[in-house]
Amino acid sequence: MVKQSVTWLNGQLLPTEQATVPVNDHGLLYGDGVFEGIRFYKRRAFRLQRHFQRLQLSARAIALAIPLSTEELTAVIERLIEAFADDDGYIRLMVTRGAGPLGLNPNSCSQPNVIAIADQLTMIAIDERQAGARLIVSSVRRLPADGLDPRIKSLNYLNHILAKIEANHAGADEAILLNGQGRVAEGTADNIFIVRDGRLLTPPCSEGALEGITRELVLKLAQDNGIETREQPLGVYDLYAADECFLTGTGAELIPVASIDCRSLPNCPGPVFQRLQQAFGRTIDQECGVVL
Ligand code: PMP
Repeated sequence: MVKQSVTWLNGQLLPTEQATVPVNDHGLLYGDGVFEGIRFYKRRAFRLQRHFQRLQLSARAIALAIPLSTEELTAVIERLIEAFADDDGYIRLMVTRGAGPLGLNPNSCSQPNVIAIADQLTMIAIDERQAGARLIVSSVRRLPADGLDPRIKSLNYLNHILAKIEANHAGADEAILLNGQGRVAEGTADNIFIVRDGRLLTPPCSEGALEGITRELVLKLAQDNGIETREQPLGVYDLYAADECFLTGTGAELIPVASIDCRSLPNCPGPVFQRLQQAFGRTIDQECGVVL
């Protein structure tokens, strides 16, 4: 068993610091590739097939053929989890265009690289997670769908990184990106929800958000628990006027929000958040089992 981060790279399992790809991989040169972030609990990957579906769709959208079948990818993830030191962790699965000449034409790349890294991922310090995240609304806009569709989970995250830099400068934990029309899209690596008058609201993905797998689950859990849900466009005012706000993501899991642009929210963590967080924990237990 390897004690630190482990990586599966084109068929080989290695300590992550020994896993290398060629410097002329177009994933590095141009961000030409797709990825997924997958959590595992009790050594079982959570919602793995949903992640593979989204990976396949992202790859198809950028005309990239994944050289492994879903069964083979499942075996890769299982092998990686087995080799990892802890029962719980995070896997970054990437498919890059592969090595090729310096020009950006993907036709010149012969073979995609498949990389899966198992490690720990903390999106926000534990203390802050309990106290609630401080958000800013970023001046950096989410890329428009006619530029790069936000539903494609590509290696191109530069505008999210610019938004995060803005959050860092403001002393905040996370930034919210608006779409080109000035309506709420999502966080840098998470979807956003608000609660208003007992109703759970989130922007539809057509507003410029990734089709988050945690988002999908939270909507379902809310419905199962009798909480009214609505996917509707939201403005910045809606964030400021919310009773509760929280973020969702595979890396983030569920994070309550304490403030947005220095406006404190009245409830953090709020009652709806707490119910959903408990339901989320139960789902993980049901799907990933409990180690005896
Ligand atoms: N939006 C963006 C931009 C993300 O990178 C992520 C993380 N994958 C999410 C939302 C949340 O998606 P999921 O719940 O599938 O992890």
